[in-house]
Amino acid sequence: SKVRIYTLAKDLGVDNHRMLAMLDDLGVQYKSVSSTLEEDVVETIKGLVAEEQASGSGGGSDSAPAEQQAQTESAAPSTPAPVAVAERPAPGEAPAAPGMPTRAPVVTIMGHVDHGKTSLLDYIRKTKVAAKEAGGITQHVGAFEAKTSKGKIVFIDTPGHEAFTTIRARGANVADIAIIVVAADDSIMPQTREAVAHAQAANIPLIVAINKIDLPQADVERVKTDLTQVNLVPEDYGGDTVVVPVSAKTGEGVEDLLEYISLTAELEDLRADPKGEFAGVIIESKVDKQAGVLATVMVQEGTLHVGDFLVVGENYGKIKAMSGSDGERIKEAGPSTPVQVLGFSENPSSGDKVASAKNEHAAREVIAARVDKRREDEEQGKRRKMTLEEMMGPLGEVRTVNLILRADTQGSLEALQGILARKESDDVKLNVMLAGIGAPTEGDVLLASTAEATILCFSVTPSGSVKKVADQKNVDLKSFRIIYELIDEVDRLIKGNVEPVF
Ligand code: GDP
Repeated sequence: SKVRIYTLAKDLGVDNHRMLAMLDDLGVQYKSVSSTLEEDVVETIKGLVAEEQASGSGGGSDSAPAEQQAQTESAAPSTPAPVAVAERPAPGEAPAAPGMPTRAPVVTIMGHVDHGKTSLLDYIRKTKVAAKEAGGITQHVGAFEAKTSKGKIVFIDTPGHEAFTTIRARGANVADIAIIVVAADDSIMPQTREAVAHAQAANIPLIVAINKIDLPQADVERVKTDLTQVNLVPEDYGGDTVVVPVSAKTGEGVEDLLEYISLTAELEDLRADPKGEFAGVIIESKVDKQAGVLATVMVQEGTLHVGDFLVVGENYGKIKAMSGSDGERIKEAGPSTPVQVLGFSENPSSGDKVASAKNEHAAREVIAARVDKRREDEEQGKRRKMTLEEMMGPLGEVRTVNLILRADTQGSLEALQGILARKESDDVKLNVMLAGIGAPTEGDVLLASTAEATILCFSVTPSGSVKKVADQKNVDLKSFRIIYELIDEVDRLIKGNVEPVF
């Protein structure tokens, strides 16, 4: 009769953060909030909670929060005690930055083609998005808001590789949580690995949804075993990867999946300031013949208002109108809200960062400063020589060389990985983010671009379009037919990423 941490928290009416803090205090090891607890630990926790409640104040003067407070004080020794008491969060509320409200999680669904990403999104949209007014057909805007019993969840709903662009745009995460969909009748496939690598590069929590469990040939256990090959060890195998079996067809398990998303979000303690400076990112954009540019912006910080000026790259526009993801006109939008914005003059690209300006003059000033900065960088790039430190990284620090490997066969991939593993040293770590069979994909290039990785191909030829994207994104994409030439290249990368300039 083992109990999962979050189940116990729920049963006792205790916040998950608080529960984990109690376990930490007791020195109990756990991997995640869904880890199971031994019976004696459960009893101890129950006793502690009962004691707290018996002391009557509901968290006002009981011992455990006092400990928490002591920690807070030691972290900020100048804070006078009475203030700390006044600011201590109410029971059941996570201790956090004062005044910063929580925001809804932004979730992206990734996985191999045909494993059911679209179907899962459709099922959630169908069952969790408030019904439209009669006749209102919702346009696809690249994101939608699901209303669940645990609060709002924002799903990014962009096709194909754009999902990768929007998970981590220009070095900043857009998605907070990644769902990796794996079909129960097909298990781990190349794009599953790709998706996992993207989530790991973005350093966001991932949840595995094993889909199509309604099929007779579904084999959930096999998928779980295969997951360990990509270093995702399911909880019931002793690991900390949350795995939820679902069917996008029957809807089985989808509630559980949503619950796990909320749980993960709660632990991530996602917060944003609606009164802060606006920051957002382009999720999707299209040109409508009549209306003009229609861009979906994800609000990350601050609040967007009709009439605001938006700056993207070196262009700006004034918001003429905004609509929410379910099509209704809105006047303002706070953090974690996807909004379709009318008013850009140029068509922005998904992943582009969006800033706001008070008026046209301010917008022009921001752009002028950006143009100056770009010109300066271009000049500097021409003139400047790399210092040794820039080439090698700070002295005494372990440098990581990120690699994506592509080869013609599993055998050559394994051989390559074997050789690379022996090349690692105390100073340089070789991080193979993704090793795949077959030619590199656009997804590889996007991953390489966000993680500053080099793509090394052995006996496979990148397509012209992939080469073009690599060129645009300034990604090193190199092909080899002879293994020793590839190894030479790795040696060069280990010595320092660039050719020294003297
Ligand atoms: P995507 O390429 O990952 O977006 O996959 P789709 O959502 O387009 O699904 C691919 C195929 O699998 C379609 O024919 C779906 O109807 C089917 N499919 C998706 N989810 C399920 C499921 O849970 N059960 C069954 N039986 N079929 C599914």
